[in-house]
Amino acid sequence: MPHAPGARRHASLTAALSLAFAACALFSVLLTRDENSVAALWLANGVLAAALLILPGRWAAVAFVTCGALSLSVNLATGAPLRLAPVFSALNLTEAALAAWLIRRAVGTRPRIGDLRQLLAVLGLGVAPAVAATALLAGVALSAAGAPFVAAIWHWALSHLLGMSVTLPAVLLLARGRRAPEFQRSLAEQIVLYGSVFALSVVAYLPSTFPTPILLTPLLVIAAFRLGPRGAALAALMMSVVCTLVVTLGPVAKLASLWSPVQRIHNLQLVIALAFMTSLSVALILAEQARVRRLLAMRTRAAKRAQARAQAAGAAKGEFLATMSHEIRTPMNSILGFTQTLMRREDLPDEARRQLHLIDRAGASLLALVNDVLDFSKLEAGEVELALRPHRPAQIAEETLAIIAPAAAEKGLDVRLDVQGPSAAVAEVDEFRLRQILMNLLSNAVKFTATGRVDLTLSIREQGEALLLRFEVRDTGVGIPRERMHRLFRRFSQVDSSVSRAYGGTGLGLAICKGLVEAMGGLIGVKSTPGAGSLFWFEITADASAAEAASAPRAEMADLAGLNVLLVDDHPMNRDLGRTVLELLGCEVAVAADGAEGLDLASRGAFDAILMDVHMPVMNGLEATVAIRALPGPSGDVPIIAMSADVMPEMVERCRRAGMNDAVGKPIQIEVLHDALARWAGRERRASGQPAEAAA
Ligand code: ADP
Repeated sequence: MPHAPGARRHASLTAALSLAFAACALFSVLLTRDENSVAALWLANGVLAAALLILPGRWAAVAFVTCGALSLSVNLATGAPLRLAPVFSALNLTEAALAAWLIRRAVGTRPRIGDLRQLLAVLGLGVAPAVAATALLAGVALSAAGAPFVAAIWHWALSHLLGMSVTLPAVLLLARGRRAPEFQRSLAEQIVLYGSVFALSVVAYLPSTFPTPILLTPLLVIAAFRLGPRGAALAALMMSVVCTLVVTLGPVAKLASLWSPVQRIHNLQLVIALAFMTSLSVALILAEQARVRRLLAMRTRAAKRAQARAQAAGAAKGEFLATMSHEIRTPMNSILGFTQTLMRREDLPDEARRQLHLIDRAGASLLALVNDVLDFSKLEAGEVELALRPHRPAQIAEETLAIIAPAAAEKGLDVRLDVQGPSAAVAEVDEFRLRQILMNLLSNAVKFTATGRVDLTLSIREQGEALLLRFEVRDTGVGIPRERMHRLFRRFSQVDSSVSRAYGGTGLGLAICKGLVEAMGGLIGVKSTPGAGSLFWFEITADASAAEAASAPRAEMADLAGLNVLLVDDHPMNRDLGRTVLELLGCEVAVAADGAEGLDLASRGAFDAILMDVHMPVMNGLEATVAIRALPGPSGDVPIIAMSADVMPEMVERCRRAGMNDAVGKPIQIEVLHDALARWAGRERRASGQPAEAAA
């Protein structure tokens, strides 16, 4: 039979609960029945109501019928008046069934006592109305048998309300299975706690001058703290039974002299009700807190897992983008490099020159795009590290403005730089990133301005050891509508994203600017009037520096003729292009295909400079540099210039740490390469043994 284990469990639960019902009924009738045949503490109905709530339909019916029969038998066997026994049994069944039905309606089909609210709902909306209804019927039945109507109702209601309030939650809690982890205690502790409750319940009502019963409540509260709701319910049940036994059977001489048997029972009822409700409430509040804590811990764990997943995904995305951008730059290097080399030829037809110029411009845009995407992903992943070095902010502003000046002039725009404050001040800044922000803002200003001017203002203010740098780029262009302003610094956002938009762009520039300014601990903002122009500003605080500004003035087109250069690159096309460009500059060129080969050549030949790719098989550029620096004699001192597609400041820093003198990016720009070679290996340097700028 497929349901055998479940059926067996239900059968034994039905049997156990029916037995408990009979035991409670006997206990109440034998020990607490008053002169009207009403027990002072009627525990049995709570057990039956709980059985009706816990057991599935068929088994609930079995329990109902069995308990009905047991109730009748107990009443008859213990000498209840023959007329009243069936009435009492019928009222018991009605009360339990009504309570179970009301509880289901109020709390749901699978009621649990998980918190105080649920306990109050079970007692207030289920038990109390069911007891009130049956108490009324009992009053009628008992008054017909000669008892006073009101007193009969009162006795029934008190006894049943108290009894059900103790047993119903206790059975529901005990039936719930394992105790919550917060309330699992060692066997020794459980024995001590339950043992103390038992012992105190035994002595509480023994004759003594001390009002011992008041100790029951604090002891039960301690049990509730340690053992949780199930423990509290069990301890309270034990206390109710033991105290009732002692009060009804024990030597209660002192109590007997003070109170009548009825008063004694009422006193007991009061103590049980107080102790039970207090301890159970405390336990439920604690359980609720523990549940919330567990939930919080679970959510925190889930959030941490999600965060780790997101970080892993972010890292994978970043890595992918870095690899992709490197892979894209490598062929771009060839396209742009060969284009520039070709453009230098004298014998080109005009049309071919124009087309080469277009290829060059398109290649440069593509490269800018690749760089933007890479930058943005780095910013999002929080991976941008600033390389702070002493620089003159005014010089950075001046040079950046000079770069966009030709484009502005082409559109007939005036450009102007205004430096306010100490223009010679040197600050610890990331020059590369600062230029990048300025370049973005300035080229936007030029792009979105048809007539008028573009002004760059730098104000430098000293603040103790630091400098407050405020850059403002003001244009007289199209301006930005108010309702679009909030979207400006978001990624991929363009004010005009319609199909027919007049200006190109990815909408990443300002998002990158914002990310970079924030990475520098600064602020960025905009003011704009549509039709009149815009003002983009950013402010950063940088440490003032006493050191010389690091940026070197650009070397004049020095003569590199006869310079002996070793080019180390694993990519054949790069070697080919590098050789072409270097020969164009007049250098003698030797090539190596990886770091190991480069090291071998460097140890044998006397080179004026080495151009070293970074990512290479066998031995990478960083390792090769370290090994070359360890060579004895002049071979170890040769200027080494990194030439890599990865020219992020972090990589440049690693190159420097490995012992390289400088770094130039790929795609190769002839002027940049020329400057680097001239600076480190140019004629003056060779003559003086110092870098060119130091000698100049
Ligand atoms: P894009 O590559 O599209 O220029 P940006 O993030 O640099 O991306 O700029 C986002 C949008 O902000 C631009 O498309 C443009 O609509 C608006 N914008 C930026 N700078 C200006 C400016 N100086 N004047 C007017 N609009 C501007």
